[in-house]
Amino acid sequence: MIIPPAYRAAHRPPTRAGDNRAKVIYRIDSDDRLVYADGAFHRFADAAGVPDLAERWYGRSIWHCIGDDELRAVFVALVARARSGRTVHVDTRCDSPSLARSVAMEIVPLPDNGVEFRCRLGRARLMTPALPSGSELLRVCAWCYRADRGGWRDIEDVVADEHLLERATVPVVTHGICDGCLAEAAAQLDPAPA
Ligand SMILES: [Zn+2]
Repeated sequence: MIIPPAYRAAHRPPTRAGDNRAKVIYRIDSDDRLVYADGAFHRFADAAGVPDLAERWYGRSIWHCIGDDELRAVFVALVARARSGRTVHVDTRCDSPSLARSVAMEIVPLPDNGVEFRCRLGRARLMTPALPSGSELLRVCAWCYRADRGGWRDIEDVVADEHLLERATVPVVTHGICDGCLAEAAAQLDPAPA
């Protein structure tokens, strides 16, 4: 997602070579609305051909600008992990039709349930043709956001181990409930002792 529009916008060469290594920073508030974007964000948006990107998205939910449902579901889970109090590190990519660029992203919790995204842009390389979307599934607990991989694991670990956000296609995300959350829900349903 960094930069949601990068998935859609036609590629334009960066205005300066140095922009390739820029750290792009933007923040959302507790309602996931874009509330801040730094100068590198503006330069990147400019290079991606959408110079008014931040202005267009200020005050609006960032989720609206991720067209891909699966990608959005993974990022929603990662942001929820950050809000639980930890800084989440993920490697992802941001593609145009002809170029793929790696992005090392930190998702950092802020006071009042805000979240800051710090994105270090890697080198761009020519795109390999997109793989057909597979039938691979990623089951995510809708309560704690752990992912089912033969045992429930923190989603950021699964993203890292499987290079999930660096691939051409993201697995289909389904929501379920993990054993721990199921046990907790069941316990709450039990009539309390008098
Ligand atoms: Zn769970």
